[in-house]
Amino acid sequence: MKKDMKIILESLKKQYPDAKCELNYETPFQLLVATILSAQTTDKKVNEVTEKLFKEYPTVDDFLKISQEELEQKIKTIGLYRNKAKNILMMCRQLKENFHGQVPDTMEEITSLAGAGRKTANVVLSNAFGVPAIAVDTHVFRVSNRIGIAKSDNVLDTENQLKKIIPKKDWSLAHHLLIFHGRRCCMARNPKCELCVISEYCDYNNSIKTK
Ligand code: SF4
Repeated sequence: MKKDMKIILESLKKQYPDAKCELNYETPFQLLVATILSAQTTDKKVNEVTEKLFKEYPTVDDFLKISQEELEQKIKTIGLYRNKAKNILMMCRQLKENFHGQVPDTMEEITSLAGAGRKTANVVLSNAFGVPAIAVDTHVFRVSNRIGIAKSDNVLDTENQLKKIIPKKDWSLAHHLLIFHGRRCCMARNPKCELCVISEYCDYNNSIKTK
């Protein structure tokens, strides 16, 4: 079935009118730290940690006063915390040395920072700087490939295919809607297809029905 992206986005918008970034932050720097922390961890867990962390250490300069061991202690409830602490402190030094302590606003510059891959850069560009972007995380990847609006086994192709089918002005919103849908309905295991508002447009659902 041909995908009507407009109808899919409208249906998801109605279902999730409050879809937005679920990480808590007040500055681009805090969003960058929170996004690095969020790899393979829930946003809820990250928010629990950053609530205290950002009160004590709100800026790059504050982070540069902490040792790696201290930071590890503060984030140790989060998966991969040793590696993340190391990357975050290196990223802070890079921000000071290369970007006057400011988070840059281009894909190339953000991905030059330790711990920041393409997904992280897209999250920061979109949420902190209002640049249209589609960050393909595990939810966006799974949901878009199930629906059939992307057909790929890798995140970069998925991002490029979504960018072709979704109008640029809707990229950031589509990213949030697909994440909300993945967390609340189209879970990795046992998706709730019978309750899904876009089931009639979904390849996965339609393939089950024809089996
Ligand atoms: S119909 Fe099922 S697989 Fe398709 S998007 Fe909805 S929940 Fe996901």
